[in-house]
Amino acid sequence: MRKKIVAGNWKMNKNLQEGLTLAQELDAALKGKQVNCEVVIGTPFIHLASVANAIDTEKIGVAAQNCADKASGAYTGEVSAEMVASTGAKYVILGHSERRAYYHETVGILKEKVLLALENNLTPIFCIGEVLEEREANRHFDVVKSQITSSLFDLSKEDFSKIVLAYEPVWAIGTGKTATAAQAQEMHAFIRKTLAEKYEEEVAENTSILYGGSCNASNAKELFSNPDVDGGLIGGASLGVDKFMPIIEAF
Ligand code: PEP
Repeated sequence: MRKKIVAGNWKMNKNLQEGLTLAQELDAALKGKQVNCEVVIGTPFIHLASVANAIDTEKIGVAAQNCADKASGAYTGEVSAEMVASTGAKYVILGHSERRAYYHETVGILKEKVLLALENNLTPIFCIGEVLEEREANRHFDVVKSQITSSLFDLSKEDFSKIVLAYEPVWAIGTGKTATAAQAQEMHAFIRKTLAEKYEEEVAENTSILYGGSCNASNAKELFSNPDVDGGLIGGASLGVDKFMPIIEAF
């Protein structure tokens, strides 16, 4: 059975003290509560160790939002997958559209990052998604398939089974414009079929595919009720417990 996951992506928000407070508030809100999904928070690098030490990481998984495409060495300013893992983080968000667009992360770079994450026992939350022009030109299925194929399909079946996917239509990220439940389901079902063709039905059935893009307390239930939507990657609405908890509780 694939996991249901609600993962927050704080992006470049919250200083260390604010981030610690948010993580601790979420930890307190979840204490003694039975929720029906895994909860993850994706913090900036500098928060990882402090957050992982301050919360119950059995209840809330900690994710980095990136890692280097090199294992170690003279790469000033970079943070390796091994360093991320040493903080207590268990996940790493890779291939977010902001990293692809603003930091020129190519499919080849992402391939290296995925391999290094897996070598260091981090679960990649691998983001894919089309821009508006691609959807309008009816190329969204081809674009998403190519993002998956080029960065992930050299993985063995065993390694691919460790990946979580996040379908994030770029036109929906931070815009307040959510994909409809039908658009999300259509793409998630397409992704699952693509995985089944490459690996096998069992791998496809066991892969968690999250939806991301202006998901919030009012639309989460409808989005998550789709058979192929296994949760969400949440940006803006993960920055406050009052907004994030109802999304977790949508399951
Ligand atoms: C994201 O950046 O991963 C995201 C989904 O952002 P938002 O929820 O703010 O659209």
